[in-house]
Amino acid sequence: MVSNREAVLLQGVLQGMNMEAQCVVSAVKVSLPKLDIWEYVKADITHAPSELPLGPYEVSFEGRKMRVNKTADGWIAGRGVMSRTELKIDYGERMKPISAICTACGEKMLTPPADLENSADIIVWFSEKYVEHRRLKHSQDDRRRVPRD
Ligand SMILES: [Zn+2]
Repeated sequence: MVSNREAVLLQGVLQGMNMEAQCVVSAVKVSLPKLDIWEYVKADITHAPSELPLGPYEVSFEGRKMRVNKTADGWIAGRGVMSRTELKIDYGERMKPISAICTACGEKMLTPPADLENSADIIVWFSEKYVEHRRLKHSQDDRRRVPRD
C-alpha cells in the first residue's frame, strides 16, 4: 500500500512544571492517502521558550498528547498516546509505536512482527490492520450504530 512520509512542523502546547507555553513540534507525518489515515513519528520539540525549567512536560499537538522531558541536553520524547478517530496508538520509548486499538470496539490490533523496527513502517502496518479490522467488524450498517463521543 502506498504511504507518504514527510517532515512537518506543528504548533504545540507544552504543559508541566506549573507552566504552559507554545512550542513547535517537528515530526515525520506518515499518511496513507487512499485511506485518509495519518499519524506522526519522531516528534521533537523545537522553538520552546528557553526559560522553561528542566523537568517533565506533556505536549499536545493536533489532538495528540505525548510526554516529554526537558533535560540539560535538550528535549527527550517519552511515552505517548496518539489517536485519530477510531485508531488509538500507544507509543513506547523513542516514540516507537507499541500497540494500537480500535476505539469503537476496543479490539487490540495484532502485534507487529519483531523485524519491523522503523516507526513509520509500524504505523503503516497498524493502519493496514485497522482498515482490515474495520472492514470485517464495522460494516457501513454497523458503523452507524457504534456510539460516538
Ligand atoms: Zn473495532
